[in-house]
Amino acid sequence: MDLSLTDEQSSFREIAREFLDKEAVPHRVEWDRREAVDLAIVPKMAELGFFGLTIPEEYGGVGGDYVTYAIGMEELGRADSALRGIVSVSSGLVGKSILYFGTEEQKQEYLPRLATAQILGCFGLTEPDIGSDAGNLTSKARRDGDDWVISGQKLFITNGTWADIALVFARTGGEGPRGISAFIVPTDSEGFEAREIKGKLGLRGQATAELFLTDVRVPASAMLGEEGHGFKIAMSSLDKGRIAVAAGCVGIVQGCLETAVDYATSRTQFGRPIGSFQLVQDMIADISLDADAARLLVWRAADLCDRGEKFGVAASKAKLYASEAAVRAANHAIQVYGGSGYIDEYPAAKYLRDARVMTLYEGTSQIQKLLIGRAETGINAFT
Ligand code: FAD
Repeated sequence: MDLSLTDEQSSFREIAREFLDKEAVPHRVEWDRREAVDLAIVPKMAELGFFGLTIPEEYGGVGGDYVTYAIGMEELGRADSALRGIVSVSSGLVGKSILYFGTEEQKQEYLPRLATAQILGCFGLTEPDIGSDAGNLTSKARRDGDDWVISGQKLFITNGTWADIALVFARTGGEGPRGISAFIVPTDSEGFEAREIKGKLGLRGQATAELFLTDVRVPASAMLGEEGHGFKIAMSSLDKGRIAVAAGCVGIVQGCLETAVDYATSRTQFGRPIGSFQLVQDMIADISLDADAARLLVWRAADLCDRGEKFGVAASKAKLYASEAAVRAANHAIQVYGGSGYIDEYPAAKYLRDARVMTLYEGTSQIQKLLIGRAETGINAFT
């Protein structure tokens, strides 16, 4: 078993960290306070290859492996999870779905632009009344001649107001998961409206939106995959997406470790650095352990994916563990900082607010446990 990174993977980590330390870390507090990152960073990130990781070179990507992708997501999570979300939704959830399920025309049309962030994508699955139970979504698409006409509402959609295309899941057939199809919808289509949701606890630099589709007309060629395969496409994208979320969480844990150690070795109380107290080291040891455990789970899931083996349950375990670890680590980091940890001038508070959503989206922690429990027992406990 070789857990060392290749030279390419190590050098990508170094380049990514150097770039983000310069271009993102100094601005993340301001972006968080004004609830929007500066989108001028997007083309710079694209130049470094963040959006093209794992999209093959023939479609304009850089064609890296999943472990490299996980390293990129980790570095983004360490710097600013708002940026991680932009990449992992646009080139991950949307780009990967097109890569695996799209026609050659769809791949040629969208992948080169997604891989270079000339366009951004959003992933429209969740609805106001349907979250974890996505197989029962209610948005509808009806056939009208050569077109599909889509109506419905989507909630909490990352990149929603920034995206050029939306991958929209809508019901084309009967009840349940088999009645769902996926559509690539240009967001400038008539009847498509995105409204930003303000006031989030974390990920405040990222656009999260409500989508309203009122008789949005798209040609038959906008359907991704076959009719009735939408749910399969959504679940397959989320399996891979969970590796990205988990990797971003490893970045949060790593960031918490670095900042907690930094503070513990420089802050003095009772005439000694607080890092010399055993109770402070106890918290730092917990963060350090979580960083290693979460990273190993992420790398295992990514490696299984790279080998073409089944990785869904490994991705669920990585996402469950890493997201809960990120919340624990950020809480510890705040405790190490004392009162200063409560102020956004120091990174721990933002890490906690950003980490909190990771246990909710792309399947809550409860849903990950049900997936793992089903794999272990063979019993479906979802309903
Ligand atoms: P619900 O499904 O209503 O769940 C509420 C509670 O009930 C949770 O604790 C849940 O674990 C529990 N629960 C539900 N069912 C069960 C069960 N069978 N057994 C045990 N417990 C259960 N969605 C998208 O489609 N695209 C996006 O880009 C996107 N981005 C997001 C960004 C942010 C910032 C947020 C907050 C959400 C985003 N989401 C997105 C939505 C997200 O995926 C959902 O919020 C999530 O799936 C949970 O759904 P819900 O909020 O409807 O909660």
